[in-house]
Amino acid sequence: MTSLPPCPKCNSEYTYEDGGHLICPECAHEWSAGESADAQDDVRVIKDSVGNLLQDGDTVTVIKDLKVKGSSLVVKVGTKVKNIRLVDGDHDIDCKIDGIGAMKLKSEFVRKV
Ligand SMILES: [Zn+2]
Repeated sequence: MTSLPPCPKCNSEYTYEDGGHLICPECAHEWSAGESADAQDDVRVIKDSVGNLLQDGDTVTVIKDLKVKGSSLVVKVGTKVKNIRLVDGDHDIDCKIDGIGAMKLKSEFVRKV
């Protein structure tokens, strides 16, 4: 494995991983693997249509007309959606829209306000 980061203390490339920790054999420095950029698998990152990071409680606007499944309603482009909640799944935003009610959106069709 060459993807491990070098030792932050002595810059040695011969670091190895042990039980979630990274260890440098040269200076015996130990640090948490969570500090490395490779540890992002645990945290689900959801981004909007332009790459802004989304968080629970954010306000977004819809960037294209979206049909509401199972009804004739349409969420119009520009609709403001307050207090979103991020969820797992194909539609990764849970929210409530005025006049429509609870529904799920795809993060690729919104933009953070
Ligand atoms: Zn070191």
